[in-house]
Amino acid sequence: MANNSNPSTPASTGIATGKPTGESVGLDRRRLLVGGAAAAAASLAACGGESADTGGSAAVQTSQRVTWRLASSFPRSLDTIFGGAEDLAETVEELSDGRFRIIPYPSGEIVPGLQVLDAIQAGTVQVGHTASYYYTGKNSALAFDTAVPFGLNARQQNAWLYSEGGDLMRALFSDFGVIPFPAGNTGTQMGGWFRSQVNDLNDLKGLKMRIPGLGARVLSDLGVTVQTIAGGETYQALERGAVDAAEWVGPYDDERLGFHKIAKNYYYPGWWEPGPNLSALVGQKAWDELPAEYKSIFKVATYKANVNMLAKYDALNPKALTSIKAGGVALRPFSPEIMNACSEASRDLFASESAADPAYARLFESWDKYRRESNEWFGAAESSLAKFSFG
Ligand code: CA
Repeated sequence: MANNSNPSTPASTGIATGKPTGESVGLDRRRLLVGGAAAAAASLAACGGESADTGGSAAVQTSQRVTWRLASSFPRSLDTIFGGAEDLAETVEELSDGRFRIIPYPSGEIVPGLQVLDAIQAGTVQVGHTASYYYTGKNSALAFDTAVPFGLNARQQNAWLYSEGGDLMRALFSDFGVIPFPAGNTGTQMGGWFRSQVNDLNDLKGLKMRIPGLGARVLSDLGVTVQTIAGGETYQALERGAVDAAEWVGPYDDERLGFHKIAKNYYYPGWWEPGPNLSALVGQKAWDELPAEYKSIFKVATYKANVNMLAKYDALNPKALTSIKAGGVALRPFSPEIMNACSEASRDLFASESAADPAYARLFESWDKYRRESNEWFGAAESSLAKFSFG
């Protein structure tokens, strides 16, 4: 199933082990201790955030030993995404000289993957690594912390979450007694695997597709019979014909699951997940009890996990896509007719959510302003350049 002979598998990139390599953001502990974490602590203190004694030469002054349990929403087999939690844990341990430890548990070991937020709220774990859009049943605006249809790509999502969006998300999560930190991104996902071609809106009617979240609501409005199937059962559902189509992540993760063996049409883009952010969610009580130096270390570790996960996907996906195509899979864009209809249905979905909830409407308005401005900027500088890339 997994292509472990690939020299770029995570076991050899150093990302999973935390060892510095040319491909990932490595760590020189002493340099980061004196430079990174201390600087982060100092800047936090300067901003009126957490107080931090950056002290003299050695950055870690506290001798307090802290161990947190981390519940991930993902299985170990999704090594890139679960690896984000491992990356976070390794950085924290390294920068604290082993005094602050985080033990990551995959989905199902402490709680099921979709109950991570509940486990943090209950104090069962101090921290989680998850996608906030799993919890839209509690508050539909939580989707903006992860991804929404026709929303932000990974860079835009980061920009928004590290500026005004972060304030909005922290305010939203404070109702749950939780603090969110961006800690990983898959980049734009793929549209998924289709047994037969879908060319127009008629082809969508009655199509059975495994797709979760808001994308499912949009496609449902267009006549698709959507099915929520747990990640681990998706391959079997497509294989035995229980669904006609299934989306997962992107070339690297999809190839490992073997979708290319059972469906030959690989569609793009995954417009429902343009740049999904994975968040490290920390319980407020655990955070309050954490020494200031460890708070700084934790924050630095989330930045590193965030950069590394996206870099890893951006390094692994192109190779996997080449390999998938070489195996006889047709790479197909969704037609303009389908894309336009999905875009308009998404706009209608945001309008109905906004009409139902003034708090959602305020958040959407801020997000939408950033989306429009940012798309103009990216459209001018980034996208136009890609069109003229030489062959
Ligand atoms: Ca997906």
